[in-house]
Amino acid sequence: MGNVKENFQKVLEECTALYVALGATAVIGHVIAQQRAGNPMYDIVTYRHCPQCEAGQPNLMDTCLVCGSSTIVLEEEEKETISYMMAESAEVKARVEFIIKEIRTMNLDGETVQHILEETGMDDQMRSQLSGEVNPY
Ligand SMILES: [Zn+2]
Repeated sequence: MGNVKENFQKVLEECTALYVALGATAVIGHVIAQQRAGNPMYDIVTYRHCPQCEAGQPNLMDTCLVCGSSTIVLEEEEKETISYMMAESAEVKARVEFIIKEIRTMNLDGETVQHILEETGMDDQMRSQLSGEVNPY
């Protein structure tokens, strides 16, 4: 296989040029056609929300193939929502992620989650947070 970065550049140029000439639908059609034809450069194209286009677009290496802007912004916005505690300590973050994983694999129902919140004394805080009260640190 050739240089991944070079290939990526080529795909991006092809797609953004198509967008300028014919619009986003043409880019999506082109991607689908190339994937059907088995073009390996298009194999790893996925669809992701692009904050610039404000729409789901073909995406390659965190770049929107329609407007060429980075789609990684969305992930950074998500990171901002992690709590102060999590940002402060990598250990806390790892443990929180562990708990989330446990809860996911256990397939808990709403009542059980409520029970956990009550047992840990977090139910009142949850109630106020879910009702939209913003709690500035
Ligand atoms: Zn875009």
